[in-house]
Amino acid sequence: MTPPTAASAAAPTRWLTAEQLGPAFDDGGRILLLENHEVFRRRPTHRQKAHLYLVALRQRARELGDRGALHRVRRYRDALTDTALVPGELEVIDPPSWAARRLVRELGASILPARGFVTGEEQFAAWAVGRKPSQLVMDRFYREVRERTGILMQGGQPVGGQFSFDADNRQPPPKGAVSLGLPDPWRPVEDDIDAAVRADLDALEASGVRFLGRDGPRRFAATRAEALAALDDFVATRLGDFGPYEDAMMLGDDTMAHALLSVPLNLGLLHPLEVVDRVVAEHAAGRAPLNSVEGLVRQLIGWRDWVWHLYWHLGPDYTRSNNALDAHVPLPAHWWQLDGSATDARCLSHTLDTVGGAGWAHHIPRLMVLGNAALQRGYDPAELTAWFQGAFVDGTPWVMPANVVGMSQWADGGVVATKPYASGGAYIDRMSNFCGSCRFNPKLRVGPDACPFTAGYWAFLDRVEPSIRGNHRMAQPLAGLRRLADREQVVEQERVRGPL
Ligand SMILES: Cc1cc2nc3c(=O)[nH]c(=O)nc-3n(C[C@H](O)[C@H](O)[C@H](O)COP(=O)(O)OP(=O)(O)OC[C@H]3O[C@@H](n4cnc5c(N)ncnc54)[C@H](O)[C@@H]3O)c2cc1C
Ligand code: SF4
Repeated sequence: MTPPTAASAAAPTRWLTAEQLGPAFDDGGRILLLENHEVFRRRPTHRQKAHLYLVALRQRARELGDRGALHRVRRYRDALTDTALVPGELEVIDPPSWAARRLVRELGASILPARGFVTGEEQFAAWAVGRKPSQLVMDRFYREVRERTGILMQGGQPVGGQFSFDADNRQPPPKGAVSLGLPDPWRPVEDDIDAAVRADLDALEASGVRFLGRDGPRRFAATRAEALAALDDFVATRLGDFGPYEDAMMLGDDTMAHALLSVPLNLGLLHPLEVVDRVVAEHAAGRAPLNSVEGLVRQLIGWRDWVWHLYWHLGPDYTRSNNALDAHVPLPAHWWQLDGSATDARCLSHTLDTVGGAGWAHHIPRLMVLGNAALQRGYDPAELTAWFQGAFVDGTPWVMPANVVGMSQWADGGVVATKPYASGGAYIDRMSNFCGSCRFNPKLRVGPDACPFTAGYWAFLDRVEPSIRGNHRMAQPLAGLRRLADREQVVEQERVRGPL
């Protein structure tokens, strides 16, 4: 950054966090970027996630040239109060975590409204006011955003006559195939910044920092140009199949037809509306089916915005203070080691290995394999949240509470999800090709071949029955539990089996 002159000394310095690296966060002017390696000592982080964040910051600093400065710091506070780095006013775009928001308020920074989402915080607050927690349903929020923005709307009605095409989606993987057979997804070409970051991370490891997972060639976009290339690639090769195979899982195809855009979106390199406009235009031009386009739009203007607003709405203590199902089992060591070889359950073993190798798995392995296993076995939701945040390359503080604590663990007792997302092996068998090569049988709940998800489902219901008895959506499963002739045997079998 050029040294401040008399004219520029009064100009504010804008601190951008690592989640604010795209053009939507840049209005011209001086920009300060901060690189903090101490966080890797405090919080276990996937090696590839650390790599992505450092590359993204350094690439942005290079792009900004004289207008920007990147400093390595041990504490954000020290840098932001250093007059050599911030000679005049400190300006921020409201940052995306409770901790950072507290800090910038304490420092008296000039704060601009948050960016990078489709709806503003005041819009969500207006929508949420007067609604009971159980009425903050994603579907209602999504409809309202569609109506307000006019996205996929025509003459006040949803394009295609309905807001959701889920009934056309949720297909199982094609029978007998090993993959969807789509072209390999776009991958970035690494450069000197990747090499320097890799050397720095090696040095951190040598100094005692323990990263999660394995290093490997960078797979996700970390610059604006790369983000646009990744978007082009998704639209050209996978958008059409996104809807139908959104929920399917295959051993030979971890990406399936997913967008692989959560990293550039969460780094602020892409705005969700850019992606939405692009896929809606593909549909309008007759190049993409409505069920795929609507499915993706719902993820971006529905789920992503909703989860973001719930982070603020539910408050800073939400993760710490919610454990409705009294789940206190520590996460097994092999989860922290991302070591799939430690479990015989093929679905879990494959997913842990995938996360170890890439720091990524799509939504259904996260929810219906990892989240489901943790829910059934009673893993501590706060520890699980820290694990998800560290192990996934797209993990951010704001994305975790609603997705992990609320949706996958039902630890808030029904604020985010109307019922626990527990399911037996039959769901995994229907939606994947995992079970065929597993030593367990998804149809069996007792005996040496009993599937730990099928048996675990009943053992879970047995354990939490008193807490969920009043939930009408669980009435049918609980009635099934009461009819189970071998209930005690299943519960004892899973007690002996222990954590997965
Ligand atoms: C237990 C659990 C943990 C998760 N952890 C994260 C996380 O750490 N970071 C993260 O960005 N997403 C998380 N998600 C949401 C979702 O799984 C990922 O966004 C998605 O798998 C990323 O891959 P993709 O870009 O190919 O997404 P696609 O499946 O192609 O979806 C497109 C985009 O929609 C957005 N999106 C969809 N669902 C959600 C959601 N529930 N919450 C937020 N954004 C959503 C993402 O930006 C994603 O890039 C989690 C979901 C669950 C159930
Ligand atoms: S049989 Fe059970 S443990 Fe094995 S892959 Fe299927 S669901 Fe997973």
